[in-house]
Order: sequence, then structure tokens, then C-alpha cells
Amino acid sequence: MARHTGSKCKLCRREGVKLFLKGDRCLTDKCAIEKGRKNPGETPKKFRRKMSGYAIQLREKQKTKRIYGIYESQFRKYYERSCRQKGVTGEVLLQYLERRLDNVLFRMNFAPSRSAARQIVNHGHITVNGRKVDIASFLVQENDEIEIKEKSKKMNIITQSLQRGKGKTPEWLEIDMPKMKAKVKQLPAREDIDYDINEQLIVELYSK
Ligand code: SF4
Repeated sequence: MARHTGSKCKLCRREGVKLFLKGDRCLTDKCAIEKGRKNPGETPKKFRRKMSGYAIQLREKQKTKRIYGIYESQFRKYYERSCRQKGVTGEVLLQYLERRLDNVLFRMNFAPSRSAARQIVNHGHITVNGRKVDIASFLVQENDEIEIKEKSKKMNIITQSLQRGKGKTPEWLEIDMPKMKAKVKQLPAREDIDYDINEQLIVELYSK
């Protein structure tokens, strides 16, 4: 499956919620959802049929995949891994998604969006525990130290993103802004994931 190259805003309009796929624009009133733009081709409300249970579960999965920018095959692998882990499957699944290096970079405010973060990682600008990591799906562990490479610390995309996102970082990451590095204090808990996701619906969908 090819990566989605069309309008990102269309994905939000399809899900009916903000998925924060376009960095700064998502925080302005230029956002299509803020403007109240509907899904193209959407049936008017009075003609709309009630969604089936399956359709609701499917939409929840699609929304979650789109937030994190993950393909179906990879998303399913995370689900299968979650089933083999101790704990509540849906929560473990969300934890896997949060632990991805591209997501961590975005959460650290080192990138304006997850897709920008993915590019920064793929281009080799990041180290984990002092070693270069250029795999966006790399899963961070407790006590890992993530750092922008010395020669990449002046990149506009990173400095501007840091400037705008000052102060808003999750509890599970300890950020050292001046050094442009972060430490994973502990793995993210469910309450650290502030998206409106009903992970139980995804688990129900896959367990059919
Ligand atoms: Fe979604 Fe709004 Fe961002 Fe477009 S600007 S990607 S509609 S959140």
C-alpha cells in the first residue's frame, strides 16, 4: 500500500475530527475542521443511516491509524504483539504507537507533525543512547535518551517547532530543551495518551 499523498485535511474531514496531520496549520482557524467543512460527498444528515457496530469499529481503527500515520499491515502487527503482552490489549496497542521514535520526536516538540518527525528520523538526524537511529518505527524503552545530532540542532524545522511548542510535553518524557534531548522516564500510560480514541473498539474489530 502506498503512503497517502492526497489532502491530509480530507482524512480529518472523513473522520470528522482533528487528526493534527499538518503541523502549525492545525492550530489555526485555517483548519478545515475548525471551519466546519464536511466530508466531501457526505450524505446530508437527514438521509444518513445509523452506523452499524462494525462501521463504528472500523472508523475508530482508521482514525487511529491516520493519527499515527501507520499502514494496515504494521498496525495489525502491533495489535498481534499487544495480544501476546501482559495487560489490557487496547492499552498496550496504544503504548506501542506512542513509543515509536517518530511519535516521540513529535511529542518532544522537535517536529511540527508526525510525518515531519518521520522524515527527520529517516534522514538520520536522531540518536538514541548516543547511536544513530534512522528507523521511524523504532520503539523507545524506559531510560532511553533521544537526542538531535549536534550538526542538526540548528535545522529550522526543529528550532521553530521547539519554539512554538514550549512547555507542552507529556509526563513520561523528561525534556532538556537547551541540549535538545529527552529521556524516557517511564513508558506511557493510558492517561498520557490524550487523543479521543476508543481502543476497545479496535480490539473488538480485530478479534472478530
Ligand atoms: Fe486536520 Fe485541521 Fe490539521 Fe487539516 S489543518 S490536517 S483538517 S487538523
